[in-house]
Amino acid sequence: MVQLFIPLNFLGFVYREIRQALINIEKMLGLLREKAAVVDADNAAPLMLKDGAVSFDNVHFSYHTQRPILKGVSFTVPAGKKVAVVGSSGAGKSTLSKLLFRFYDAAGGSILIDGQDVRQVTQRSLREAIGVVPQDTVLFNDSLQYNVAYGNPAASQAEIDEALSLANLQEFIASLPDGINTQVGERGLKVSGGEKQRIAIARVLLKKPKILIFDEATSALDSHSESAIMEAINRVAKNRTTLIIAHRLSTIRDADHIVVLDNGVVVEQGSHGALLAYQGLYSALWKVQQQKNDA
Ligand code: ATP
Repeated sequence: MVQLFIPLNFLGFVYREIRQALINIEKMLGLLREKAAVVDADNAAPLMLKDGAVSFDNVHFSYHTQRPILKGVSFTVPAGKKVAVVGSSGAGKSTLSKLLFRFYDAAGGSILIDGQDVRQVTQRSLREAIGVVPQDTVLFNDSLQYNVAYGNPAASQAEIDEALSLANLQEFIASLPDGINTQVGERGLKVSGGEKQRIAIARVLLKKPKILIFDEATSALDSHSESAIMEAINRVAKNRTTLIIAHRLSTIRDADHIVVLDNGVVVEQGSHGALLAYQGLYSALWKVQQQKNDA
């Protein structure tokens, strides 16, 4: 019996391994198919970047046809200005940034940069023009220096130091035993969510993009960390077209313009003061967040 059990057990193991390998291959092919969904148009030309003005014009989008996510979204991010998009979780805020960076294509309407449809320009030129600070940054198992310089391998040490200083990282680095040579990532020093976002800001700065997308981390940050990030963002946003996907309203009070998204529709837009006075969704969200802060 035991003699029979061992080979059967082994066969079971082999079966499970093969099955998993097939699932992995399927996943990989799925990913490749998804990646290939966005390709350069036949006549795609490089983006002719002037001032970096961005406009969303009646944009429709769904990840799955039966569930529309954006339903005719229109707003502009004037060149050099800071515009924030706010709204409840799942409203479609991050999706807007994915469409601007062209991870996906809008199903209807258009997204224009300096008047050029992002679907008509080469992806390479588009991605050169835009810097993204994502919600959750991936850090490589390497030094802090490597992780920042990755934004532009040709950057000089002076440029790296300037980026670190603008991203409010110098105090943090000074506190590390190996300074900028400290190993970070999964196998190195564990950095906080706020530090990670500041590393991402320094990385993006080295790229010197005309347009910046800042996808604010959803996880709560202590107020010191939050103000360090906001200071960094305000410095970085100077003279850049900046789109902030915001989760905490306190961080975007001073934005030039605020767009309120609800269930894939722009329901209000204006300055912080004007939106508070309007007493609509923004003012309701603001009150809820103020209560949370006071609790
Ligand atoms: P949050 O504030 O929670 O980050 P959000 O406003 O940024 O939310 P999105 O991330 O844009 O919302 O997502 C909008 C909707 O689209 C959500 O219901 C989400 O579940 C769905 N969604 C997002 N990404 C995908 C995807 N890759 N495939 C399918 N559905 C998705």
